[in-house]
Amino acid sequence: MLTKGDFHIHSTASDGELSPAEIIAAAKAEGIDTIAITDHNTVNGINEAAEAGKKYGISVIPAIELSTRYKNEKVHILGYFRGTLYKDSTFQEILKLIKARKIKQVRSILRSFITTEASGNSLSALEGIKFLKTFGASVVLAHPARINQKYLPEILNLPFDGIEAKYSSNSCYDTFYFINMALSNFSYYTGGSDFHTNRKEGNTHSSIGQPYLNETEIKMFLKRSGALLL
Ligand SMILES: [Zn+2]
Ligand SMILES: [Zn+2]
Repeated sequence: MLTKGDFHIHSTASDGELSPAEIIAAAKAEGIDTIAITDHNTVNGINEAAEAGKKYGISVIPAIELSTRYKNEKVHILGYFRGTLYKDSTFQEILKLIKARKIKQVRSILRSFITTEASGNSLSALEGIKFLKTFGASVVLAHPARINQKYLPEILNLPFDGIEAKYSSNSCYDTFYFINMALSNFSYYTGGSDFHTNRKEGNTHSSIGQPYLNETEIKMFLKRSGALLL
């Protein structure tokens, strides 16, 4: 039985300060039994987290947080994988090119799978959604409450499967608003801390498990996203 989930956590594989194994230990201490490691543009932390998760009895969902843009507004897309295509060599190659900011080359590979856009130094939000879906991910708009109101309605019209309705910096109203939106317009919602560090100073995110998804919410997420549990 999975009762407490944090589906947005960063490790040393991107800009977090704890290794994936340290995150598992910290999650255990907080009473969290399900996590997703969602590093920026990389899946390199997943294996270590899954290994440590087995020892501590914590389920790990393979995931990623992809950086994209919509008309110059930053849009972060969370991808929760249904299978093991995150290990695919083409997927890994594309992530390496994204890290190196070689977006032209990224598009030339992506063109054999999806329709891409003509220009821009970042992937567009739509390209990002299609890219992650091609490799078997269920896609979620990360922290909608942090997105510029001017663009949010258009961004919410993109083909996301879910939205991150519960989020560390949300007001109570934000959470209420986005849960209701998810229940009427999307297949499910997620929630997470966006954990990066335990340091208090200058920390704009919260600690692991704040907020968390409860048993019912985890069940709904797993059923509707089809995400894999490692
Ligand atoms: Zn983000
Ligand atoms: Zn994040």
